[in-house]
Amino acid sequence: MTPGDENYKRLRAELDRRLRSDRRLSALAERIAAGTADFTDTAEYTQIVARHIGEVMSDSIGEITDPVGKELAARALLRDEYESINGVLGEVQAHIDEGLGIQLEPVKPAFPAERVAQAAHSLLDPTVTEQTIRRRARSTSENITNSFHDDFIEENARFRSRAGLKVYVERRTSGKCCPWCTEVAGRYLMSEQPEGLFRRHDNCDCVIIYDGKVLRGQVGSSGKRTRTWEDTGERAARIEYAESKKPARLSREEAERLQGEHMPEGLTYLRGRGIMEPSTKLNMQYFGKNPIGIHLPKKEYGKIIHEINTLYYDFYQDQRVFWHETVIDDSYYVYKVLNKGFDNYVIMLKVKKDD
Ligand SMILES: [Zn+2]
Repeated sequence: MTPGDENYKRLRAELDRRLRSDRRLSALAERIAAGTADFTDTAEYTQIVARHIGEVMSDSIGEITDPVGKELAARALLRDEYESINGVLGEVQAHIDEGLGIQLEPVKPAFPAERVAQAAHSLLDPTVTEQTIRRRARSTSENITNSFHDDFIEENARFRSRAGLKVYVERRTSGKCCPWCTEVAGRYLMSEQPEGLFRRHDNCDCVIIYDGKVLRGQVGSSGKRTRTWEDTGERAARIEYAESKKPARLSREEAERLQGEHMPEGLTYLRGRGIMEPSTKLNMQYFGKNPIGIHLPKKEYGKIIHEINTLYYDFYQDQRVFWHETVIDDSYYVYKVLNKGFDNYVIMLKVKKDD
C-alpha cells in the first residue's frame, strides 16, 4: 500500500459521510434519478459536492504529514468526483434528449490531469503557512470540482453546435461574484459567447449551462421549423465531425466494419423518437473511451440486457456484433448490439421489425 491510500480512504469516508447527510444533495439526486433534473440542478449538485470537497480538504490536509500522501489523496478525491459528476451529467443529458427525441450521446471531457496535479502539488509548498495551504486546499479543490461541470457543458455545447443543433450557453451570476462575472453573464449562441465564458476564478459561484432545445430544422409550409436536420453541406461536416470522434478502443477496421454493416432484410427504420436514422453515424458516439450506444428507457434496457445474458453462451458469445430480437408491447424490435463480453454490451441501434 502506498502512503496515499490510507489518507485517501480516510478523506473519502469523510466526504461520503458529508455527501450522504446533505439533504439538499439527496433531493437533487432524487430528481436526477427520476429523470426530471436539468443542468441547473446538476450545477447546484456540483457546487454542493465542490463545497464538501473543499471543506474535507481544508480540514484534513494538515493531518497528512507525508507530502506525497497529500498530493495523492487530493488527486484521488478529485478523480472520483470527476467520474461521478460526469456520470450525473451524462444521465441528465440523456433524459433531456429522450424527451426531445434527440439521439446524441454525451461527450465526456478529459480529466484535467495537469491542472489537478498542479493543484495537488501546490499543497506541498514549504514556503507558505499552514493556513495558506488550508485555504488553497479548499479553494482549488472547489474550483476544480466546479470546472468538471463547466468542462462538460462546454464540450457538449460545442459538439452539439457542430452537429447541427442550435445551442445557447448561459452564464448566470448571483451578482455578488465579481465585476468580470457580472459583465460576462448572459445568454449567447454557442460560438458567439465571450472569451473565457467557461472559466471561473476561485470562489466564483456562477452557474454555466447550455440549452440545445431548438433544432436547426427546415422551414415547413406552415412556416414552422421541422425537427429534421437540414440536408445541406452542414450534414457532411457534421458526419465528418462525428467520425472524428471514433472510439479509442476499437481499431479503425473494427469501427469501419461496424459502421458499414447493413440492416438485415425485412427491417425498416422507425422514424421519430428513439429510433436511429439508418445512415447517420451519430449513433456511435462515445463516452470517453467507452462506447455507450443509444439511450433506452431503464426498464427496456434492463429487459434487453437480461434476455441477452440468458442467451449469451448459446448464441452470442462468439459474435462481436449481433442482432437481438424482442417483443415490446406486442411489437417486434431488433437491437444491434456490440458485444464486449458477458453482461457488457453496447446497444447501437433499435429497429422495429415489419409485421
Ligand atoms: Zn463568478
